[in-house]
Order: sequence, then structure tokens, then C-alpha cells
Amino acid sequence: MSEIDPGEHTVEQLQNELDEIDSPRELEGLLDAEKDGKQRKTAQEAIRARMRAMNADEDEAVDEDTETEGEYRESADEIEDLALDPSEYDIAEFGPAIKDVEDPDELDAILDAERAGEDRENVVTLIESRIEKVGESEEDEDGEIDPTELSTAGLGNALQGIDDSERLQGVLDAEQAGEDRDAATNLIEKRIESVQEEDEPDEIEVIPPEEKHPDLDHPTADKQYVKALDDGVYRDMWVYCETQAGELVDVSKEMLGKARELMDGYNDAYDEDERVVAVLIGSDVEKHAADVIAYGADVVAHHEDDRLERFQHKPYTELFCDMARAGAIPGESRGRDAAVDWREYDEPRYTVFPATNNGRDLSALVQGELDSGLASDCSDLYIEESMISNPAKTGRPGAKKEFERVLHMKRPDFSGFEYSTILCLDNPTREFHPQGASVIPGSFDLPEPDHDRVGEIVDHDGELDEDWLRVSVTDHDRLDEGVDLTGHDVVVAMGRGIGDSPTEGMELGLDLRDAFDDAALGVSRGIVTGAYEFAGHVTEYTAEERQIGETGQVVEPELYIAAGISGAVQHKVGMDESETIVAINTDPDARIGDFSDYFIEGDLFDVLPTLTTALESGELEPQELAADGGTNDD
Ligand code: FAD
Repeated sequence: MSEIDPGEHTVEQLQNELDEIDSPRELEGLLDAEKDGKQRKTAQEAIRARMRAMNADEDEAVDEDTETEGEYRESADEIEDLALDPSEYDIAEFGPAIKDVEDPDELDAILDAERAGEDRENVVTLIESRIEKVGESEEDEDGEIDPTELSTAGLGNALQGIDDSERLQGVLDAEQAGEDRDAATNLIEKRIESVQEEDEPDEIEVIPPEEKHPDLDHPTADKQYVKALDDGVYRDMWVYCETQAGELVDVSKEMLGKARELMDGYNDAYDEDERVVAVLIGSDVEKHAADVIAYGADVVAHHEDDRLERFQHKPYTELFCDMARAGAIPGESRGRDAAVDWREYDEPRYTVFPATNNGRDLSALVQGELDSGLASDCSDLYIEESMISNPAKTGRPGAKKEFERVLHMKRPDFSGFEYSTILCLDNPTREFHPQGASVIPGSFDLPEPDHDRVGEIVDHDGELDEDWLRVSVTDHDRLDEGVDLTGHDVVVAMGRGIGDSPTEGMELGLDLRDAFDDAALGVSRGIVTGAYEFAGHVTEYTAEERQIGETGQVVEPELYIAAGISGAVQHKVGMDESETIVAINTDPDARIGDFSDYFIEGDLFDVLPTLTTALESGELEPQELAADGGTNDD
């Protein structure tokens, strides 16, 4: 037995004492005492090092055969008692085998055996990390950790499991009283800091803008209804179905198809039964109800009034908002309590409007009145979760919060060069519903109507306030729309591909136009808004009146030749109903290739003259052009 008690010595003092000990038994006793006592890893390692040193000394005195066995290797009997004899394993087998040993004492014994035997560096590391791991899980059980027992990395892992700053302080004290490693101390202090931050989060104080800046005009300050809506109930996707000259416009059908697809997915994903609600406002609009249901609506809410034959923003906004609130009076009653039997919620969850002239106007006014947000001119929509770290939305800097059922509203930015995805999320103290979007016509496919679908038709009643009808249309006439690109057999359209020689590019387009019997020259918006310097004689062909697309003219010729046009969605909607589309572009990946019948990869400055010459010489007939689509090079 050892005469010294290792617990009474620092590791340094113990090391000095050890140099004086020559008895293997005494060293074993010391090791046991340390294991039963303070269990310092460094102290145990010092004792083992002394054992090895002694062993090496004695090995010099024994014959060759016994040299590697070592005096401090466990006796044959002890090795038999080992849970696992490391000398029987090569390194590849040893890794999986050691994972089965759970008992820290057995692991210590295995480590001793390895050190006393082959002392392979890799095997020693494996055993040590197993000891560390087993130690950590024991720590989890009893909730205490001794930092002096752990490597810095092991300590880092173990600390993550402790959320109590008092316990962490205990660990710090233990580390400082023991090895006092800089890295370990640092880790513990950082953990204490982060736990304290979590305990006392910096809540953001939210002061309503009306209170913060009382001197300013606050047009939303009187929105009592909105303020009353915390913890509101929101359901369904509402689609404003626009009519023009008595007809349901295509974009209304496109939106209904998309809304149906989104809400079918939504109901599956969330096990809900939320609906697509179509809104029709105007004169004689109920006649569209059956169609609207066939295109995907579950409910049609409509308001009829002869005075609403033409779109007027005030009455249309008031009526839509009244429907959205189910007749609830701002500040007095809540939508879900109002006497409307087809719905029991405060406001729609989502609203979708067409990004037409009228739809843009209405969408902005409605969403403003309902005190929510609007993503305008969207080209795609989807519903998904979103993990957000913006403190304005989470209420706490550094915190993350998952928002469910978020309508992701994708829209082109910077004239279509980039796409952004807009989200409309509640603040911690204020709710923003409906999540609203306006949709670029043509962004979604026209759905096939299903005339077997059934739906509910709801007549919205309520009188129009005379004050809403401040504008009355007494007479109307069509404005002279300037150049009419419609009705031609062929349209040649020029885009920004005209690049550095804009005048020459436009001249080549005009030459091609002239080679056909009945053709017109149009342009993309890229030409209209670009800072090109054209020579006088082509300038008139670059004006806005020749723009094709969403905010320009819509053409459907037999042959559409797009030269140097990338194919942004806003351009596409003005030409993709053309019978045959031929695109000329240097970029084989240009988007226009996705909806062209023929794609000529080449430089318009070469391709256009080639086409013009071929047409003029009769070598190529317009019909052949469409049939051949040109060659795949210029
Ligand atoms: P770019 O996108 O710059 O494309 C130029 C193309 O030319 C590229 O594909 C390039 O590879 C190719 N090219 C370059 N050099 C050559 C060469 N020598 N030979 C052959 N090919 C070459 N746009 C419209 O057109 N109509 C609209 O009505 C319209 N409305 C819009 C409304 C809104 C609200 C917004 C935000 C945008 C609208 N836009 C509209 C703009 C639209 O998003 C695109 O920016 C525009 O269509 C791009 O024009 P582009 O294709 O000519 O130019």
C-alpha cells in the first residue's frame, strides 16, 4: 500500500513524490486511491507515467522474450478478467469493440493493459475518448461534471447540456481550483454568458408609432378594428376575380387555378379544410359564379350594383373590406362573431389580386385598409414554413422563430434581373393578415374548368354609401392607342440584344419586317427604358407605344420573331399566344427558349440579315421559316 495520500497533494507535488517511489504495488495503490478520491486525470496519468518509466528500467534487466510484456502489465489472471484484452485486437477491430464497454473501471483497466502492453497511440486515444464519452453520459445522469476530468473539447460538449448558471459557476470554480486551463475557463465563462442572456432576453419594447411620434399625421391611427385583432382567426384564400366589359379576364381564372392547387396542398399538409373564396364585384357579375367555381373556387362572394359597372376604387375597396371583415364594424365587433353564416373568422388568411391596372389599385387599397402588407406583381406563390431571426418579428435579438403557413410571394426585381421572395409575417405585438399578393397575368397556366365542381354562392348585401360614388362616368370613349401591333401576320420584336450598335440593330429589325408582306415591328421594355442613343430615323420605333408585354400590347401573330430578347415573364405574357415563336439569342440558356418553337442560337447582327436576304430572294418563304426554324447556328 502507498504511504502517501494523493488527494493531499497537487498534481505537481504528487509528481515529485512519485519520483521517490520504486514499488509497483505502492504505485498501484496510489492509482487506486486517486481513482477512488479526486479522480484527476492528470494525477492518474502521472502515476501511470511513473509505472511505465519503472517498467522500462526493469525491462532492461529482463531477457528479450519478456521485454515487451512489462512489469506493470496486468498479471495473466488480471488480463483474463479484462472485459476486453486490447492485445487481441488490431486497430480496425478495436474501435467497434471498445464501444461495447460501458463501465469506466473496466475501461481504465483496458487502458492500463494497453499502456503496459503494446501502448499503440491510436488504441490509447480510442480508449481515452471512450472513457471521456462514458464519463459525459454519467455526468448527464447525475448532472454534475468535473472539468478536470475532461479535455477542453469534451468539456465544451458537456457544457452545452447545462442551462443553469449556478451549476456552471460551480464548474468554473472547479476548473479554476484545478488545472485552470485558459481555454477551458474561457469556454465555461462564455457558456455562463449565453445562459444568462437566454434567462434574461432583451425583449424589444414596442411603442406604437402613434405614441412614439404624436406630432406626425398617422393615417392608420384610427384602425381600432386592426388593433382589436390580436389572436385573430384567419382562414381561406380569397381571390379577387376581375371582369372587364362583362367578361371574366383570363388572369382571374389563372389565379383560381393556382389558389386551388395551393389550398389543396395546404389542406393536405395541415389537415385542414380551408377554402378558395372568389370575390366578384360589379354589375351583373353573378353570372360568372358557375365558371368561377369550375375554375377552382369553393365559395363565390359577390356584390351586385348597376352603379358598379366600371371599376371605381372607393366602393370596390369598401365592399371588399366589408366582405373580408364579415361586416364587422371596426372597433366594435369581430368578423367571426358577425352574422354571416358561411364563415367564422376575422379575416382571410391570404388574398390574391390580379396585377392589372384595376387590380393593382384595389389590392393596395384593400391591404392598406386591412392594415396588412402586399407583395405586388408576383410571378409565383407557394406556402411553406419559414425560420426567421429578424428581431422585429421574433421580439428578441438573436432568437429564431418558425412561422407556419407562410405565403411565399415571388416577384421579379430590377426589371426582372433578380427575384425576391416577400413574406408577410406577424410582429410579436401586431398581426398582419391577410397575407396579400397581386399576380402578373400569364404567370400561371389557365386551368381546365371542371364544370362538375360544386360550390356555395353568397350574395353580399349592404348598401353603397353615396359618398363612395364621388366619381360618376357620364360618357366614355377609347383613347387613340397609337401604333397597333395586333392583327399582323408577323411581328418582329427587338430587345436589348441590339447592344452596342442600337441603331444598326433596329435597322436590321426594320429590314426583316419589310421582307414580309404584313409585319409590324415591336420592342421589349428593355429598349423603351434603356439609355440608348438612336439615330433619328429609328427613334420612333423604340417608343413605349410599341412595347409588347404585360404593360404594353398583347399580340398573337402567326409568326413572332424575338431578336435579342431574354424572355422575362412580363414580355412573355404579351406574345406567348403567338402561333409560332422564333427566338434569336446568343445565350443558349435564355429563358425565351422555354416557350419558343424554334431557337436560333446566334448573333442577331448576323442572323437577321441572313433571314432578310433569304426572304427577299425567295429562297425562304415565311411559312418555311416557321417550318424550318432556321439552323441551330447563324
Ligand atoms: P434583357 O433581359 O437584357 O435580354 C437581352 C437578351 O439579348 C439576352 O437574353 C441576351 O442573351 C441577348 N443578346 C445579347 N446580345 C445579343 C446578340 N448580339 N444577338 C442576339 N441576342 C443577344 N418587359 C417587356 O418586354 N414588356 C413589358 O410589358 C414589361 N412590363 C414590365 C412590368 C413590370 C412591373 C416590370 C417590373 C418589368 C416589366 N418588363 C417588361 C421588363 C422585363 O422584366 C424585362 O426587364 C425586359 O423584358 C427585358 O428586356 P430584354 O429581353 O430586351 O432585355
